[in-house]
Amino acid sequence: MRTAYLAARVLPDADTLIRDGAVVVEGERILWVGASGEAPIADERIDLGDATLMPGLVNAHSHLDLTHLRGSVPFEGEFAKWAERIMHGRKKPGMAEAARNGIREALARGTTTFGDIVDPRGFAEIVEVFRETGARGRLFVEAIGFRPEAADEIFDAVWDLVEMRALPETVSTGVSPHAPYSVSRPLLERAVAVADGHGRPLAVHLAETLEELAFLRHAIGPLRELLKRVGADDPSYVPDGSAGAFLKRLDLTRAPLLLVHGNYLRPREVPAGAFVVYCPTAHAFFGHPEHPVVELLEEGVRVALGSDSAASGATVDLLSETEHLARARPDVSGKAVFRMATEWGARALGFDAGVLRAGALADLAAFAGASGHEILGRADARCVLTVVHGRVLHRVDPTAPLGETAKLPTVA
Ligand SMILES: [Zn+2]
Repeated sequence: MRTAYLAARVLPDADTLIRDGAVVVEGERILWVGASGEAPIADERIDLGDATLMPGLVNAHSHLDLTHLRGSVPFEGEFAKWAERIMHGRKKPGMAEAARNGIREALARGTTTFGDIVDPRGFAEIVEVFRETGARGRLFVEAIGFRPEAADEIFDAVWDLVEMRALPETVSTGVSPHAPYSVSRPLLERAVAVADGHGRPLAVHLAETLEELAFLRHAIGPLRELLKRVGADDPSYVPDGSAGAFLKRLDLTRAPLLLVHGNYLRPREVPAGAFVVYCPTAHAFFGHPEHPVVELLEEGVRVALGSDSAASGATVDLLSETEHLARARPDVSGKAVFRMATEWGARALGFDAGVLRAGALADLAAFAGASGHEILGRADARCVLTVVHGRVLHRVDPTAPLGETAKLPTVA
């Protein structure tokens, strides 16, 4: 089955605009991209009219298993206390249903892909949610445990899931040692060695808060107190000194490395090839000073975008993040936002997507009306089509009035 998608504007990547363009999809991959008049013959033509067709948006950092905690835990100034309340809330029922709804909302707004951090206890349920919704996912199995003596047991349980074979074709796994203050150094070492040995992306929360920097520097502060309160402290812990020193432990040669948040990272601390994942609404939720995104970009660091969990922001759709970013940071260009939201997100997650070119995975999004690469900052950008792995997962009539949800017949 070959389908041609035609649109007034096609944006294959952050540098290219094709007027009256077409993207031809065969199976799960893109066959051809170019001017619509030159498109190869297809079984089906879907003319999106005055729309902008582009790569699907990539949410490079989510916690879908916290979607049911949306708006339930206010931030009162201490991150450790907030995190503790989230830990307790995680066990509430309704997790899978909220995650499913979160993904569906995001698909309807052009997000095709998630880099999702998954608690091992809920892994099977989250896999099912991805299977049902058809979204693409890199599921980072989360390793948490600060006591060195538990490292082997925790790691074995994580690795069983990372190696799980019976996954939907749109889902693959990665490893996420949670953060410097929650993962013992032996556990971290094993996670790094195995992720790199198997070429699996590794995501770690880093330089997120000043509390974390105090922990890294002197092994003190609210995060150390939290470890003691929950009986997870390691009295023999020797602090690394800084985020940069901690990063020397993350020596990956084959697998993508995702440094999540990086609110307090300096560009020179970022290892060559690593990605920083900036979460704009979560950054604002916790009231951090200005994110170093511009400095990172200027130094050539590739920055992807994420939503973090719905508990520290309203949604898990990436368009809300890019809209927020465009309002909060006019010093970040529309093209840079476009690249962060598509190409760099996909690369960080290790997917052959994020640009429209022959051979790449067919993950597409189209928005009514809006024009060029600044599209992702426009509050009126309305998603009319979402395609993941060559399958149409969302489609609305672009001529219908705003708020109209009637769907066109699903494309077979
Ligand atoms: Zn996170």
